[in-house]
Amino acid sequence: MMIKRLCIIGVGLIGGSLARALKAAGACEEIVGYGRSPEALDEALGLGVIDRAETDLARAVAGAEVVLLGVPVGAVEAVLEQLKPLLEPQTILSDVGSTKGSVVAAARAVFGTLPPRFIPGHPIAGTEQSGVAASFADLYQNRKVILTPGEDADPQALSLVREMWQTAGAEVCEMSVAHHDEVLAATSHLPHMLAFTLVDTLARLEDHDDIFRYAAGGFRDFTRIASSNPRMWHDICLHNRDALLLMLDRFTDELGQLRQSIAAGDGEAVLETFERAKAARDDYGDTHC
Ligand code: NAP
Repeated sequence: MMIKRLCIIGVGLIGGSLARALKAAGACEEIVGYGRSPEALDEALGLGVIDRAETDLARAVAGAEVVLLGVPVGAVEAVLEQLKPLLEPQTILSDVGSTKGSVVAAARAVFGTLPPRFIPGHPIAGTEQSGVAASFADLYQNRKVILTPGEDADPQALSLVREMWQTAGAEVCEMSVAHHDEVLAATSHLPHMLAFTLVDTLARLEDHDDIFRYAAGGFRDFTRIASSNPRMWHDICLHNRDALLLMLDRFTDELGQLRQSIAAGDGEAVLETFERAKAARDDYGDTHC
């Protein structure tokens, strides 16, 4: 596969890692990076992640075969608005946003429809770091990328976006927008809410110094993702609100039941919950996590 010119709007962890992977595979003739901050773009250039940096959007996207949005989901609509008069008819557009309903809604708000050459995507890969310095070429190796193309998606655009992610090492699958947002609310967005809330709750306890001093591996495993970018997660939870609220309600109910069992000294019920969870984690954990 060869993309003549790829333009990445927002060269951070996710966009930067894709650029590195495609460069390592020799899959792009030129990668152009666009961003708001010249310092961050200089860093991307210095690291060899991009070949050319542009802070002018028109210059950045001119002649691009593929334009990839690597920005936080809260910025997508404003970026699409700026892009609308600049996109050439043959340009393929894609994104990496963690929520897909909001991205498709943003595209509809700007273009009146989801353009056939806009293939929304979401790599199920990342770390709690952000910024181009944290990007690395292997991020997508053996990871999944979910594409949520519209019904009238252009087959050539879909196949090129699919191939681009496969070249970066990922396994690509397709899903409806609604299903994507439900699945990710459960597997990614809810756990991040729990980690952020747990750490915040403990940090505001009076004796929090001791609590963190004596925290062991389990605490570190469970709370690693609370170091993730707060602004990015602010955007994600507000942009997948409906699906996330359903999961939060479901989880709150279950936690309430566990609390009741503990309060009532109902060891049987407590044990049943833990045994079900352990069996599920042992079954699925190693193959899917
Ligand atoms: P990141 O490292 O912070 O990179 C975001 C990039 O977007 C930066 O280059 C930033 O550059 C640019 N940007 C930020 N706000 C912008 C705005 N308002 N307008 C234009 N550009 C803006 O974040 P990331 O982790 O790569 O995440 C990027 C996207 O990937 C998000 O949509 C996120 O939901 C999705 N995602 C993240 C992960 C993860 O684990 N991190 C996983 C899968 C998907 P400037 O500030 O210099 O403009």
